[in-house]
Amino acid sequence: MLIKDKFKNKKPLISFEIFPPKKDYPVDTIYSTIDALKDLRPDFISVTYGAGGSTKDTTVEIASHIRNKHRLSSLAHLTCLTSTKDEIQNTLNSLKKKGVRNILALRGDYPQEEGWDYKGPNHYKYARDLISQIKKNGDFSIGAACYPEKHLECQSLEKDLLNLKEKVDAGTDFLITQLFFDNEIFYDFKEKTAKLGIDIPILAGILPVLSKKQIEKITSLTGCSLPKKFLRILDRYEYEPQALKEAGIAYAIEQIIDLLSWGVDGVHIYTMNRPKTTRRILDNIKTIRGVLTDEEAS
Ligand code: FAD
Repeated sequence: MLIKDKFKNKKPLISFEIFPPKKDYPVDTIYSTIDALKDLRPDFISVTYGAGGSTKDTTVEIASHIRNKHRLSSLAHLTCLTSTKDEIQNTLNSLKKKGVRNILALRGDYPQEEGWDYKGPNHYKYARDLISQIKKNGDFSIGAACYPEKHLECQSLEKDLLNLKEKVDAGTDFLITQLFFDNEIFYDFKEKTAKLGIDIPILAGILPVLSKKQIEKITSLTGCSLPKKFLRILDRYEYEPQALKEAGIAYAIEQIIDLLSWGVDGVHIYTMNRPKTTRRILDNIKTIRGVLTDEEAS
């Protein structure tokens, strides 16, 4: 089912994000993670594309496995910055062939290495241009990224929002936010997007923080801010990894319950390929979410 149609039938959606195994690891090392996650009945599972050092090659294969083996909706991420328009078209053709009809259309980050050159007529500059190409291919449901605290490269949130509006107008069906730790920032963002006439569903991206090292890396990559109560947790449990993990999971649960009470369109959990952590979160929200297992319902 197309994700854009899921929002018509049911809200909030709960989705998970996973990343493919790193280079040199066989693709099927992710399959046990998917097996465990699917039991939690997400509305879809998204698969990143070349993010955080994972390979690009297996995204299509994993998204297809989720859809065709488990009959579960999958969302394939696709970046455009480092691929030519022809390469992108080939990927779109493969997705179509395998029946994967949901794409998260992204620009991607600039490569770290010196001397790269992906400019010119064969390359797209912004996600907006990729979305226009996907649109021409027909019946895909298209998601895109958005940034409640603005994208790192943009001078201001106002400018970033105007660029977002263009991206939405190019044919985006739904948005997924960058992770954030302060729900008030998300609520302000929703107000601002509504004022600009952006009325498509927005899933809130939530990351359960499991270690101090992880959060340091993430804040430097995304520029997301950390509220005082979150900083207190980091300070207090810096040298007690298990306590920090427990507190990180509890913090994510509290954030999600607040978002669900507020009436969010959906919650997208950055699972970091950790089904046990994800299960702990879902166990805490299952009644609110309204999904009970057959056993519990009987
Ligand atoms: P864009 O929407 O193109 O925006 C990029 C920048 O350009 C912004 O600063 C924007 O304000 C500016 N801009 C946009 N349009 C214009 C314009 N017309 N004129 C001037 N400026 C403009 N990365 C991966 O490599 N793989 C993944 O799988 C992946 N998954 C992600 C999932 C989510 C939910 C999120 C939030 C991010 C993900 N990323 C991923 C990271 C993403 O690729 C980076 O954040 C990237 O730097 C920007 O991508 P974008 O699609 O938001 O870009």
